[in-house]
Amino acid sequence: MPNPDPDCIFCKIVAGQIPAHKILEDEHTLAFLDVNPLAHAHTLVIPKQHYVTIDQMPPDEFTALTASVHKTALAILKATPTTEYNILQNNGPTAGQAVFHVHFHIIPRSPNDNLGYRWNPTPLNHD
Ligand code: 5GP
Ligand code: ZN
Repeated sequence: MPNPDPDCIFCKIVAGQIPAHKILEDEHTLAFLDVNPLAHAHTLVIPKQHYVTIDQMPPDEFTALTASVHKTALAILKATPTTEYNILQNNGPTAGQAVFHVHFHIIPRSPNDNLGYRWNPTPLNHD
């Protein structure tokens, strides 16, 4: 891995210095279970290289990451009873990012899971 950040917990998972329950791994990406899951099989998918936000990523790395998100989602659907899920990806603390290494969340949903969905839309100003 060319650019690990020594202070980054996800770089340490990639390097095998911190254990994780791996779901999928390929040359560019790694998927593993979230340590504080919102639901059974809540999974994080990360690039092996350290990038803080997706705008820092070269397009081909981002393409590899989204392909891995898709593959991991299919694996979760196959391996668990879930048929519905959220994909979440936070960039920056204001957007809810707590670990500053790019990651996608795959969060399986089930009726009455009490996770909710808080979104406060306002009408578009067409001007
Ligand atoms: P964020 O808020 O940055 O989008 O989400 C970070 C996620 O990383 C959280 O859901 C948190 O539970 C997870 N997380 C933080 N530290 C670790 C860890 O050491 N191992 C694993 N597997 N997940 C972690
Ligand atoms: Zn990192």
